[in-house]
Amino acid sequence: MTQEPPQDPDCAQPLGMVLDRMVLDHMVLDHMSDLVAMLDTEGRRLYNSPSYGALFGDQDIVGTDSFRDIHPEDRERVRQVFRDTVASGVGRRTQYRFLLADGSIRHIESQGDVIKDAAGKVTRVVVVARDITERKEFERALLEKNLQLRATVRELEQRNRENVALGKLGDMMQMCKTAEESRGVLAQFIGQLFPETSGNLYLRNFSNDLLEAVASWGKAGPAGDPVIGKEDCWALRRGQLHVVEDAGSKLVCQHLIVPPLGPCLCAPIMGLGEVLGMLHVQLDAADAKLPDGIYQRRLESQQVWALAVTEHIALALANQRLRETLRAQAVRDSLTGLYNRRYMEQALEREVLRATRNGRAVGVIMLDLDHFKSFNDTRGHEAGDALLRTLGDYLLSHVRAEDIACRYGGEEFVIILPEASPEMSRYRAEELWKGVQALHVNYHGELLRGVTASFGVASFPQHGATMADLLRAADAAMYAAKRQGRDRVEFAQHR
Ligand code: GH3
Ligand code: MG
Ligand code: MG
Repeated sequence: MTQEPPQDPDCAQPLGMVLDRMVLDHMVLDHMSDLVAMLDTEGRRLYNSPSYGALFGDQDIVGTDSFRDIHPEDRERVRQVFRDTVASGVGRRTQYRFLLADGSIRHIESQGDVIKDAAGKVTRVVVVARDITERKEFERALLEKNLQLRATVRELEQRNRENVALGKLGDMMQMCKTAEESRGVLAQFIGQLFPETSGNLYLRNFSNDLLEAVASWGKAGPAGDPVIGKEDCWALRRGQLHVVEDAGSKLVCQHLIVPPLGPCLCAPIMGLGEVLGMLHVQLDAADAKLPDGIYQRRLESQQVWALAVTEHIALALANQRLRETLRAQAVRDSLTGLYNRRYMEQALEREVLRATRNGRAVGVIMLDLDHFKSFNDTRGHEAGDALLRTLGDYLLSHVRAEDIACRYGGEEFVIILPEASPEMSRYRAEELWKGVQALHVNYHGELLRGVTASFGVASFPQHGATMADLLRAADAAMYAAKRQGRDRVEFAQHR
């Protein structure tokens, strides 16, 4: 008895089915790890290769709708590909996701093919699919690496630009003669060193020990208090970098009038063992939303950069303070704090040249204390020094900012008055003469008075065309005052 061929309940052609199976068996052998399925023209599963077991937990899925397990977002698109395949008889390659019962997602790439009956009508669709989840994840990791790499390149380019700007800042600060000039340079450059951020730069005001904002940039600029004390900033209190990652944190410093926009940091500027200033930088709020790795790197690189910049600024400011002190020592007389003779002569030479160029006047007042020798003899040399100091203070506080008051010799002084007419110079000399008469010297609690001085006034260009001529003329006028009885003002004779 011949055996009946096995019957497939869904198949109208049992023999065809057997043949199909044989073909499929080969395919399965060829693609052990691949997923092979045979579907009817409605997309119902007639056969699934054993590899489906690994994916669907060995549950029997034969007879189910093959679109059932496709991710809802991909389902309709894949169904359309299937319909097209059935209609055209031409299979297509497509990608989609399986949404498994446990909620996990697998990425699938499949290629359809058709089986036709003798009349050329499509009766089955064979789908060979492959789980490409790992490849997809690899691609995603690669994309992330690529993004990170691009961010690194951008960062390096940025760092390079910033280093150039930092070098320029260093050069400019090296040229600055005064703290005021340094402030100006810093105010202009600091924002360029921290693009895509906002913040404030504070410098210490040594006269009141507060820190003043000398520069503000970006959106957070106006959000910082313009004047702060050391205790208002965690970085200044602790003498080290202070970073706040969470804008709502309790450790946000008090110098912020409004809460920071994003993560922020404060870096103290320390030099010669003291606080010279503080740098506050806020990252953009959007930075906190960057992928974790990129955000952390950005925050860290800003910290490293802020430290580098503050170190640079600290060094430049400390150098500048040192230079200023040395320069002051070189140009000032140590007893009275007035300019010394060398500086005065240079300044007078410069003023004469300038006045020659622009046709302006220069006044020169020379004064010499009267009978200072006997003051010394009766009160003592130390009391004489106290008198010279008091006179120095008086002159410093009674000349204009542009005037130059100097100690010319022992008890002789010269005041240069740029752009002062002869009348103005005389008037100013008389004011000083009266002032000296009223001078009280506090010497160990004892008030010494009765000090007088003789004044000689000369004017450029009337009494001399050069520095030396002018000083000679003023000196001669001063001696004329001595001769005429001292304690008076004399004007130089015309040349
Ligand atoms: P005259 O009115 O003619 O100028 O008389 P004088 O005594 O002021 O003039 P003289 O030039 O004879 O004396 C100047 C004195 O000033 C001599 C010196 O002891 C004193 N002197 C110069 N430098 C200093 C100083 O740094 N400290 C003190 N205490 N005295 C000084
Ligand atoms: Mg004298
Ligand atoms: Mg003298």
